[in-house]
Amino acid sequence: MVNDEQLNKSYMQNFIPITRPWITEGDIQAVTDVLRTGMLVQGAKVAELEYQVSKYLGTKEAVAVSSGTATLHLILKAYGISKGDEVIVPAFSFVATANVVELVGAKPVFVDINIETLNIDVAQIEEKITDRTKAIIPVHEFGLASDAKAVMQLCKKHDLLLIEDAACALGAGLEQKKTGTLGNAASFSFHPRKAITSGEGGMIVTDDSDLAEKCRILRNHGIDSNKGKTGFVEAGFNYRMTDFQAALLLSQLPRLEEIMSAKDKIVERYLNEIVHPSIELPVIPKGYRHSWQSFHIIVNHLSQTEAVEKLRKSGIGANYGAQCIPEVDFYKNKYGFEPEKEFPNAHKAFHKGLVIPLYPQMTSEEITHVIQSINSL
Ligand SMILES: *Cc1c(COP(=O)(O)O)cnc(C)c1O
Repeated sequence: MVNDEQLNKSYMQNFIPITRPWITEGDIQAVTDVLRTGMLVQGAKVAELEYQVSKYLGTKEAVAVSSGTATLHLILKAYGISKGDEVIVPAFSFVATANVVELVGAKPVFVDINIETLNIDVAQIEEKITDRTKAIIPVHEFGLASDAKAVMQLCKKHDLLLIEDAACALGAGLEQKKTGTLGNAASFSFHPRKAITSGEGGMIVTDDSDLAEKCRILRNHGIDSNKGKTGFVEAGFNYRMTDFQAALLLSQLPRLEEIMSAKDKIVERYLNEIVHPSIELPVIPKGYRHSWQSFHIIVNHLSQTEAVEKLRKSGIGANYGAQCIPEVDFYKNKYGFEPEKEFPNAHKAFHKGLVIPLYPQMTSEEITHVIQSINSL
């Protein structure tokens, strides 16, 4: 008989987590090289990273900051979105997508998702547009681009900004266009749950040079470097990225395609070999390049807790993928939502959805073990 402690130990040793950052010796070397220079914050490496990301995406501007949340906060602030304004966001996303709207004093207006793509249901957007609406933030959930073309048509018709929350979607795209280039401005995150990571980090990309300039000023205490020592022109933030974080990203960026194709191969096995009458697999609409930040399934026949517990006992990490934001305490209490009625798909994804392990270093035995464990749920 093994006792709980032994059992837990063996889980930890053989545990297959939801994700695991891929850090090479070369990445570590790149970081220590910066540490040895003594120049730690927003210097040459940050500038080089911005150049490389804008080159990769083909955008005019890239502005590195301290997190994905900071990118969205700066974009909204720089566009002057504030009290009295409304911003449309999907009801199912990481809570930060709505928090940033609250942070600038505006009101997030939630729209339910399409249950197959898990992205904002474009057909339900227009009824939520009012004369206070200033922007729409579609999220490319789990690395699948939302239907930004259709959202852009609405934005043009109603004179709104399209701000992509592309936190999960570096490398993703639709019809030859990369996410990050589909609207007025976009936000990427480099949290360890995303494809490449600096621990914490984010990047604003845009073709709007005025916006980029405002974001550069706001990320650095409001300093306009052209204006001398009194040139603190805004009450800004400290949202700078460090140079060792930028070096870590610069070292990983050339591996992005490799990371995505390694994930593609795992996903191909998941899509072919996970066969269960009560489990729904992700759907990839035609013409889309999924970056597979997460592989998200819907488990209909078990409670989320039961499914997570069963998988954990098999040494497999699983968790809900994102929040039904109108259902979390702050939003529910502030706005009195009835999530089940108003946002049934977001509610379902929040309570029936699970993300399962997906990262390039998974061995074929581990992939097989995940597939078999899910098939026997
Ligand atoms: C990760 C994530 C964020 C926040 O990024 P951080 O870098 O963790 O601040 C925002 N939106 C979405 C959709 C995310 O997945």
